[in-house]
Amino acid sequence: MALPPSGLSCAMCFGNGDTRNARYHRGMASNSSTSLPVVNRTSMSRVAKRRLWVLLTVQVLIIAHVLMWWLSTQYGWFGGYTLSPIEPSESIETVSDGIVNAGAIFFATALLSTALLGRWFCGWGCHVLLLQDGCTWLLKRAGIRPRAFRSRLLMLAPLALALYMFVWPLAYRFLVAPFTRPDLTWPGFSSHLLVRDFWATFPGVTVAVFFLGICGVLTVYMLGSKGFCTYGCPYGGFFAPLDRLAPVRIRVNDNCQGCAECTAVCTSNVRVHEEVATHGMVIDNGCMKTMDCIEACPNDALSMSAGPNAAGGPRPKRTWDLTWPQEFAAAALMLVLFLVWRGAWGVIPMLMAMGTAACGTWLLWRVYTMVRSDNAKWLKWQLKRAGKVQGKGWVVLAVATLFTIVTFQNAVVQASAFRSSLTMQPHTIRHTLATPIATGSQASEVHQALEHLAPTMDLRSGGWAIVESPAHRYARARLLAMQGKLHDAHTEMVVVMAHARPTEAAWRDGFALHTLLLPEDDTQAWAEVVLADHPDWGGLRTDVVAWLTSTGRASDALDMAAEAMSLEDARRLMLRAVDLLQAGRAVEALPLMQDYVNATPKDTLARAALARLLLSLGHTTQAGVQMQRAISEGPNLPPAQQQALAAEVAAFNAMAESKSAP
Ligand code: SF4
Ligand code: SF4
Repeated sequence: MALPPSGLSCAMCFGNGDTRNARYHRGMASNSSTSLPVVNRTSMSRVAKRRLWVLLTVQVLIIAHVLMWWLSTQYGWFGGYTLSPIEPSESIETVSDGIVNAGAIFFATALLSTALLGRWFCGWGCHVLLLQDGCTWLLKRAGIRPRAFRSRLLMLAPLALALYMFVWPLAYRFLVAPFTRPDLTWPGFSSHLLVRDFWATFPGVTVAVFFLGICGVLTVYMLGSKGFCTYGCPYGGFFAPLDRLAPVRIRVNDNCQGCAECTAVCTSNVRVHEEVATHGMVIDNGCMKTMDCIEACPNDALSMSAGPNAAGGPRPKRTWDLTWPQEFAAAALMLVLFLVWRGAWGVIPMLMAMGTAACGTWLLWRVYTMVRSDNAKWLKWQLKRAGKVQGKGWVVLAVATLFTIVTFQNAVVQASAFRSSLTMQPHTIRHTLATPIATGSQASEVHQALEHLAPTMDLRSGGWAIVESPAHRYARARLLAMQGKLHDAHTEMVVVMAHARPTEAAWRDGFALHTLLLPEDDTQAWAEVVLADHPDWGGLRTDVVAWLTSTGRASDALDMAAEAMSLEDARRLMLRAVDLLQAGRAVEALPLMQDYVNATPKDTLARAALARLLLSLGHTTQAGVQMQRAISEGPNLPPAQQQALAAEVAAFNAMAESKSAP
C-alpha cells in the first residue's frame, strides 16, 4: 500500500468526479489534515481470501441442498422429501401461520448471533453479497470504483420492508383481525422442516438470472458496492439495528496514527478511522465484519473484541447526496416503483422489485441532476459538458426513457387490477358453482370489475401488459364463472394452470371447472397426477373424494381418502427406514419399508427399492414378486420416474446375478 503524494485524489473517489467525497476530504483536511490513501492491491488479502472461501462453501451447500431435492423428486430418495429452504424469507410462513421451517430457524439464529457478534452474516454468509463483491472486483479491474449513493430516507427502505414481511402478519392477526375477521385465530405452531415442493417459493431460472443481474450487478454499479444490502435487503433491515446492540465490535488501541488506510479498504463505506478516533470503535451498522480494515491497518491498531455496544450512542457521521425535499421525492418515487414492479408480469418477486425500485430511483435522480446542471459525470462517464449532453449522456437518457415507458405500462396494469379488486372481489369458482350466478347489483359489479381488468390483458389482446400475469387471468376466470360463462372461465384457468406457480386454491377452482367440462376419466386422471405431486393439498383431496363419491366411484374415493390418512404415518416410516439403511441396519429397516409400501401402494419406486432390500437380505422369492409388480406398474409412471425405475431394475438384476454366481 502506498500513501499518495499530496494532491492525488483518494481511493474512494478516484477518477469519479465525486464532489461529495471532495467535500468530505476538505472537511477531513481541516480537522485532521488526513486524506484517504490510495490502496493499490495486486492480490487479495488473507482475510479476503478466507472470506471468499467461506462464501464459496455457502454456494456449495446451497447446490448440495438443491441436489438433494432433485434426487428426492426424481428418484424418490429420502422418501421424496427434503429439508425446507434455508432462506430467511420462509419465516413469513412462521409469522403468518405458525409454520416453523428451516428458514425460520436459520433466520432466528442469524438474528440472535447478530445481536452478539454484529452484522457478520451479511459479510460471511450471504450469497447475494458474494455476487456484489464479485461485481465490485470486476468493476475495479475495469478501472471503475463503484461509488456509494447516500440517501437518509431510502436507507430506511429495508427496515420498512422487513417490518411489512415479518411484523405486519403478526400485527394483523393479533391487533386487526379480532375486529375485522374474528375467525382468523392463531393456529398454534406446527413444524414443516421437510418438504416435497422445495422450489415452491422460488422463481424460475430466467427470473433468477434477472434477479442476480439487477440485485447483484446493477445495484453495485448504481448504488455502490453494498448497494442491495443498503437499499433492498429486508434481512439487513433487521440486522442493521441489531448490530448496534452487539458487544463484539471492531475496536482501536493506542497505536492508531490516523492514516485512514482502514477506511480506504472498507467496501461498506464505513469511515473507520473517523469512528475509531471519536468512539474508540466502529459504530456504523453498515459494518459487515469483513475484517479487511483489521488486516489493512499498518499499525495493528484494530481488533475485534467484546466491550460496550453502540446502542443509544451517537450515530455515525455521514454525508448525503440529497437535500431533504429531494429525499422525500426519492422516497415517494421508490415506493411507487416498488408497488408498480412487485408482481409485474406475474413473475417479479418482492426483493427483485426492491432492487428495481432502488435502481430506478437512482436512474431518474441521475437524469434530474443531468437536466439541472451544465456538467454531469458518473464514475468514468462524462454525461454532460458545458450544457451539452454527451454520447454517454444520451445512453443514460435512452435507458431512463425506456424504463419510464415500461414502468408506466406496468403502472396502468397494476392500477387496473387494483381498481377491479376494489369494485368486486371475485368469489372462488367452487363457491360460484354452488350458488346461483351473480344477478342484480352484483351482476353489474362483476361486469364492471371485468371491464377494469381489460387493461391487464396482453398487448395482442388489446390490453397494456407486455406479458399477462396469471394472477390477473385467474381473477378474470373467477369473474367469468360468476357470470355463468364457464367455458370462458375454463379456458382462462387452463392457461393459468399451465403458467402459474401451483397454489391449492387455484387448482381447486381448476378442478371444479374440469368436473363440469371434461370427461370424468380425464378429470380423475388429472386429479390423481396433481395429488401425486402435491399430496399435502388436503382441500383438493377432499373435493376429489367428494366428487368421486358423487359419480359412483366409491372404491377410488376410498383409496384416495385412505392415502390421505396414511400419508403422515407413512412418511415417518419411510424416513426412519432411510435412516436405518444409511446406518447399515437393513434388517431393522425392512419391516418399516414393508409397512410404508403397504400404506402407499402407488409408490412404485419405493416398491422397487423394497424388492432390492429383500433381495439383499436373501428373501429372493418375495423380492421377485415385489419387483415384478413394480415393473408392471412402470408404464403408468411419468418419464422421469420410469427412468428411475429402470435404474432400480438394473441394480436389482445385477445384485441377483452376483448372488447366483458360483
Ligand atoms: S486504525 Fe490503523 S489503518 Fe485505521 S487510521 Fe488508525 S492506524 Fe490507520
Ligand atoms: S469497518 Fe472494517 S470490518 Fe467493517 S465492513 Fe469495513 S472493513 Fe469490514
